[in-house]
Order: sequence, then C-alpha cells, then structure tokens
Amino acid sequence: MRKCFIFILIAAVLLSWACSGAKKEERVAQISVDNPLLSVFNTPFQVPPFDIIKVEHYKPAFEKAMADHKAEVEAIITNSEPANFRNTMEPLFNSGELLGRVAAIFYSQVSACGSDDLLKIQSEMDPKLAAHTDSIRLDDRLFAKVKKVYENLEGEGLNAEQRYLLENQYKGFVRNGANLNAEDKKILSAINQDLAVLEAKFAENLLAENRSFQLVIENKEDLEGLPEGVIAAAADEAKAAGMEGKWCFTTDKPSMLPFLTYSPKRDLRYQIYNAYTHRGDKGNANDNKDTMAKIMNLRVRKARLLGYDCFANYVLESKMAKNVDGAMGLLNQLWPPALKLAKKEATELQKMIDKEKGGFKLGAADWWYYTEKLRKEKYDLDDNELRPYFKLENVIDGAFYVANKLYGLTFTPITVIPLPHNEAFSFEVKEADGAHVGVLYMDYHPRKGKQVGAWCGGYREARYKDDKRVTPVVTMVCNFTRASGDTPSLLSLDEVSTLFHEFGHALDALLAQNTYATTYVATDFVELPSQIMEHFVTEPEVLRQYARHYQSGDVISPVLVDKIRNSSLFNQGFTNVEFLAACLLDLEYHALTEEKTLDIGAFEGEYMNRIGLIPEILPRYRSTYFSHIAAWGYSAGYYSYIWSGVLDSDAFMAFKETSLFDQNVAQAFRKNVLEKNGIADPAELYRTFRGRDPKIDALLKDRGLN
Ligand SMILES: [Zn+2]
Repeated sequence: MRKCFIFILIAAVLLSWACSGAKKEERVAQISVDNPLLSVFNTPFQVPPFDIIKVEHYKPAFEKAMADHKAEVEAIITNSEPANFRNTMEPLFNSGELLGRVAAIFYSQVSACGSDDLLKIQSEMDPKLAAHTDSIRLDDRLFAKVKKVYENLEGEGLNAEQRYLLENQYKGFVRNGANLNAEDKKILSAINQDLAVLEAKFAENLLAENRSFQLVIENKEDLEGLPEGVIAAAADEAKAAGMEGKWCFTTDKPSMLPFLTYSPKRDLRYQIYNAYTHRGDKGNANDNKDTMAKIMNLRVRKARLLGYDCFANYVLESKMAKNVDGAMGLLNQLWPPALKLAKKEATELQKMIDKEKGGFKLGAADWWYYTEKLRKEKYDLDDNELRPYFKLENVIDGAFYVANKLYGLTFTPITVIPLPHNEAFSFEVKEADGAHVGVLYMDYHPRKGKQVGAWCGGYREARYKDDKRVTPVVTMVCNFTRASGDTPSLLSLDEVSTLFHEFGHALDALLAQNTYATTYVATDFVELPSQIMEHFVTEPEVLRQYARHYQSGDVISPVLVDKIRNSSLFNQGFTNVEFLAACLLDLEYHALTEEKTLDIGAFEGEYMNRIGLIPEILPRYRSTYFSHIAAWGYSAGYYSYIWSGVLDSDAFMAFKETSLFDQNVAQAFRKNVLEKNGIADPAELYRTFRGRDPKIDALLKDRGLN
C-alpha cells in the first residue's frame, strides 16, 4: 500500500542560489569545515552533496542544528521590542533552517536506503528531536509573544498567507495547552504521557498477536489453486520459521489475502481469517480491549480539558471537515448506496456458491475467493496481459506528458549531479519559458534497507528568501517491479497509478509558492494533488501517448482499454463498505463526550448493528487491531482518504467538463491548489478553483455508487 509523507522538513532552505558544476574533488577542497552538512552546498542546483556525506556527519550536524535553532528562537523571545509579525512570526516561521536541511536529508536517506548505521542514529536522534521540538512548542515565553501578535491580528495589515499562518501557529500552541493554568497543564502532561504508554502498548500487543499465528500447510493438496509465486513465498516463510519443506501463511495481508483469494479450502480460509479478525481479542496477555477503552477515555478527558466536547472535534478543527458533523455528513451520504451495492454483490456471490452446490451461506472469509472467480468470469482481465504496455520508462514519459500538457512543464535528465542513491535518476524541471522550477529525483525499485510502499519527499522545500524563490529539491521513491533478463521493468496497472499518484505530490511540492519555510497542510486535503493525477492514467487520450507495447511499439488496443475501465467498478460495494465501516467506527469512538466504562466488543458490535453492516463483511479494521486510530495518529482521521476522494473526483470533473487539458482549468488548479496548498484555508482554495464547494456526485459515479 502506498503511503505519502510530503515533506518532513521543519524548515529546509539554503542560503543562496547558485549553480556551479564543480566536480567532487574540487568541492571537497572548497569546503571550509569538515562536515559537508554544515557547509554551503557547492553542487549543481545546490542539491545535497550525497557523494561526500558520511554516516558520521549526521550526529554532529543535528547537534549543531538544534543548538542554532534554539538560539534563533531565544533571540526572538529576548527581543525587547514589542512583539509584532515582523520581529516575531517571520523569524519564527523561518527558524531552524539548518535543522530542516539536516533532518530532510537524514530522514529521506533512512527511508530510501536505511543501513543499520543510519537506523542506529535514528533511534538516538528521534527522542532528542522530539524533546527539542517540545522545548520550543511548550515555551510559555514564546507563546506570550505569539499571543500578543495574534491579539493584534487586525492591526498588522497582514496578507492572507501571513494571517493564515499566524492563526494556525497560535491555535497550535493553544491546542497543546498553552492557555491552560499551571495545574491543568500538569494534568494534560500526565494524560499525554499515559496516552503515549498505552498507544505503544497497543502496538506491542498487536505485534505479538501477529507473530503468534501461522497457518502451516504440510500436504501439497492443501495448496490447490494457489499461484506459484504465492506458494514460493509461503515456502520461504516456512523455511525462515525452521519448517523447511512445509508452507506457512501469516495474518499479514500480503500473505493472507492471496490465500483467501485463491484457496478453495474453506476450512483453511476460515482458520487464517478468524486468526486475523481476533487479534487482540482473545483474552490473553496481548488482549487490546482494555487498552483501547483506556485510550478512548483518556482522549475524552484531554478534549474536555482543552475545551472541546469530544476528541473528534478537537482533531477535526484544523481539518477541512472542521468537526465531527462535517466528517459524518460525508460518510452518511456514502454509506447507504455502498451498503446497497454490497448486498447486491453478496447475492451474486451466493448465487455462485449455490450454482456450485456449495450448500453453505456466504461468510466473511469467503468473499475474496468467490469475488475472484466472478471477476475472471465477468472481465477476463489478466494483469500479465497489461504489463507489456506499461514499461517503466514509457509510463514516466506519460506522467511528464500530462504535466507538460497541463502546466507547460518540461523534465530534462541531469547528467552530472550527486544522487541520493546510485540507482536514482534526476531531472531538471522547467517552466514553458525555460525558467528553472526545481530538481526531481526518482528512485524506482526495491532494495535492502528501503521501506516498503511509495512516497514523495524532499531535500529542500520551496520558499522565498530576499524576494528570490528558493527552488525545491523533490524525490519520489517507489518499489516497482525490476527488469529481469531481457525483459525491462514492466509495471502493473496498480503500479502505474502509484507512479502518477506520487508524481502528483511531486508537482505539488515543485510548484509551491509559499513565502516562508512554514506551511499548514490539512490531512484531508493533502491527497487532492496526488489522487487527481490517478484519473489521467486510464484516459484514452493519455494511454495512447504512453501505453505502447515494449516489443512491438503498438498502442494499447481499445478492447483492453475498455476492459480496464469496466473492471474498475467491480467489487466496489465491498471495498467501500469495508472501508466506510472502519471510518464510521473511528468517528463513533471519538465522538464520545464523556468518560465511561467501555466494553469494546459490545461497543463495536452494537454500532455495526445500528448502521446495518451485513455479517458477510467486517470493518477493514476491528477495534482491537485498528492501529491507525489507536497508535498511528489517524484518530478521528481515517475518513481523510475518502474526503480527498470526493475532492479529486469532483476536481477531475472540471477537466472532463471542458477538455482534458483545458488551460483555464489547469491554471486555476495550479494557482489555487498546487501553489497555495498549506498557506490558505483549503475549503476556500477549493471554492476559488471550482467556483463552488465540492460535490459528491463524481465520486459516487467513479465508484459505481450512483
Ligand atoms: Zn499520497
């Protein structure tokens, strides 16, 4: 599954703009101190000098950078002039430049090529950085200055961006408890500590539960129906577990889902699925019910202490949804049609079972198997039939083509430049008139030490300094199928979508026009720039450009294009119901307005009954293994994915209503979304782009729910 962190930068900016092409040896000689991370980057486009940065440079660089940052903030606090935007907010928004630079390089490298050495430094630096951030975030003297500027907000003559940033900065302090009295601050701090312990406990318990089960197959006949790759992976799993010659499946989805999809052995399907759905719910030492109940009650206490009626309203205040009613409002529009469609799908699957004289009622563990059978029967679309049309280089050309048609951008390979990894590629991004926009790195394939999934990150964030644009350095990191033998890297359709998705994040970062090194991007808006790009993937006009057979050069046939487009609506009832049930459960927990004795099993069961979930489908995550909301910081935020879905479907309609590359629409999207993401209220940005609020209709159509 793809994941996206845009910029982990605190503030990543460099001092001056220059483009020298000095070779590695010369650069070493020019650097005055012995740590390249602390020197001017004398490289093309001032990208990080990856080739001379060594592991031992990071720690001293972090320490110097944190000390610098602390001194910059201290200078703001001790400034004896009355606080105003210029002497307080501007230096604060731009503070921590060096720290941003070091952190961006370090964490990007950890994710893309994390050696043991780097991981060791990470485990040492993570708590230090957290403590450093807290020492600034919780400084009462700094808050007093920010509050002063905020209270005089109207008198400062601020522009829209300055106002938005000031309001968010102030609210950030308040949301951390800055306005509480001394006693309440202590209570809040105790709640935060207890929550941190419980959230970690939840994750630990789940990890132990994941490790505690294996479906061990000893007879070859029990592997019936499974594809060869799946069998080989299960053999490897068994070997690693000291059971060579057998086959092991685990409750990790990449292991379990292929088994549920292809195995005709119903009893075995149930064994593994029951193990999966009862994780943390067995009454053993790893049971998560009590932990979950405590977490939910502490969150109620925290929200009430900070002046909110429930935790969801605390979280959602800073999001586009604004409050629990906003988020619920969307989910309640989607739920009835999704449920209706899922019931129809269940009937179809039951018919299939009956036709085979199965003699049983469709159950939750049967869904994948019969869906796969039905999919083959209905669409006959094989991934291997598509791959030859999706050669990696051609797909990249396709993404570049779309960006060129929309925004006039060009992408020129850079031949001499330090690379974050020797497998990475680099491009100079330019405007139609040749003006430099930024640098884009792409790193395509899996390797040891690289995290799974795909993401877009950066080594330098765009901003303005002395009225000149500091240009961004962006990186896209993926884990796509490698070339093998004479066959080049041929992507699956899902991988093609992932590439376009991350490329959308990259465009967002490349075209950003923020003034300061600080932005506030709402998590339910952040996927709009990326998800809208996925819509272009299967547009016939775009496919004709890039989907060419890697051997014959033939353009993909209209028959195949139709198959792709038709099959996209298959199984949408299940997919949406499973997902929405988890979104609703998340919000139902976080809408609690008072602490109470919570029986987690009963709470979930009663709520699922109330919303009418059918027994053939379980929520994508049940309470005892819903890490997103218990441990990963998505509390009251799991709906964000579908919120962005409404936006991208509705936004794409603006292109479809005119022409795919209509310049007015493209410019409006660029000016209002890509350039201003994080420096203005997202709802206002969307309204200015679209001329109205988002409508749900396009998403319903895209998902077959209309
Ligand atoms: Zn994303």
